[in-house]
Amino acid sequence: MLLVRGGQVVEPSGSQRADVLIDSGRIAAVGPEIDAPGAEILDASGALVVPGAIDAHTHFGLPVGEVRSADDFESGTIAAACGGTTCVVDFAGAGRESPDVALGEWTANASGRAVIDYGLHLTVTSVPDDPAEAARLFASFLERGVASVKLYMAYPERLMVDDATLARALTASVETGLLVCVHAEDGAEIERLTARELELGHVGPDAHPATRPPEVEAAAIRRAAQLAGDAGAAVYVVHLSSAAGLREVRAANANGLRVLAETCPQYLYLTEDRLLATSEEAANFVCAPPLRADVDREALWSGLADGSVQVLATDHCPFTTSDRRRGVYAREEGWRTFREIPGGLPGVETRLALGFQGVRQGRLPLVRWIDSVATAPARLFGLSHVKGSLAVGLDGDVVVFDPAAHHRLDADRLHMATDHSPYAGMQVTGWPAITISRGTIVARDGEPWEAAPGRGHFVRRLPFDWPNPELPGR
Ligand code: MN
Repeated sequence: MLLVRGGQVVEPSGSQRADVLIDSGRIAAVGPEIDAPGAEILDASGALVVPGAIDAHTHFGLPVGEVRSADDFESGTIAAACGGTTCVVDFAGAGRESPDVALGEWTANASGRAVIDYGLHLTVTSVPDDPAEAARLFASFLERGVASVKLYMAYPERLMVDDATLARALTASVETGLLVCVHAEDGAEIERLTARELELGHVGPDAHPATRPPEVEAAAIRRAAQLAGDAGAAVYVVHLSSAAGLREVRAANANGLRVLAETCPQYLYLTEDRLLATSEEAANFVCAPPLRADVDREALWSGLADGSVQVLATDHCPFTTSDRRRGVYAREEGWRTFREIPGGLPGVETRLALGFQGVRQGRLPLVRWIDSVATAPARLFGLSHVKGSLAVGLDGDVVVFDPAAHHRLDADRLHMATDHSPYAGMQVTGWPAITISRGTIVARDGEPWEAAPGRGHFVRRLPFDWPNPELPGR
């Protein structure tokens, strides 16, 4: 039994001074001055007590060509725990393999390794033409505890689907209660712009953003929203990165379409000038969508604050500097063009603290912070029956967050398995003092505690239901 005593309990519905009792891995009581003889007392005075955070977008051990994202389920979930995240939802599938193969591989990667609980999304690259067959396929995902799929509108060589396929997925999602996520970038337009840059001899990382401008994202969101509307479905836009994209999300919802969105800390903090550094340094900032401008950062903070953007996730997909240099073809002499640089940034450990800086700066209401990192991802991804809030009976996933703790975001102060940090040199104020996963302390003061590999369980997720508009952060 653990008794978290004397903290300020924060939930999307508000905050209050309360104790939290965790017994047999579950939340047993929340209220003032709980008396629990025999419980281990954790002093939370001066701290915020929040639901364990949920990262709805990670890529652990993702193969990209000849290289693989640096964190596996063990190092990745340890890093997550150190940063206050008690559940991740990772994307199973690396290309056009069958869902069975993808789920089998990801289950094997996670089991025996994960330190905190995890769910799986499925990356889908084809959908049966026959609607009944498509619905059966999606229903079979749900039976296996997978309540969401992602389709890519970009990466023709590996992942992209056409609009007809996306439309079939959306239709099947309505019938089965899956949530369709989209990587919203117009792949054909990216191909055209990439060819143009390469023809001009622009092969370095600094040319990458020009191949994926904000309009490429906005156009794809517009299409996805329309297809969702035609199917009577909702659609969830992963890693929203631009003001133009956010305008499309807002416009779609204003027109009665149902578009949910997620953004990531890199789009709130980093800008494309990072790609102007020396090639080797700049390569560490290659990701898609690319980093953008200050106006985009500002817009995304406002979207997160007003609930137009529901979720703060990470798209955690780090690579080591040497794998970046070698590129996806693992050439001894290194990548030849930006296309070969494996893209993606580390983030699973730093998300809560980076979101909290927005609270400190008055950009993000406290309740929106906790909704976007914990409660909304639980609600949208079928985890509310076990996680995402501090309700009695839910998993004892609790974070004691010290709003005054200082933490430097250098790679050597963090646990993600990469040798560089996009936030190197930055010091944040506010870091988890204690992370509790199903009643076990898995991290203290940003270091792993009883973080035994294999203690994390696969979480079966429930069908998606369009959220109640009365709730904050719809
Ligand atoms: Mn991703």
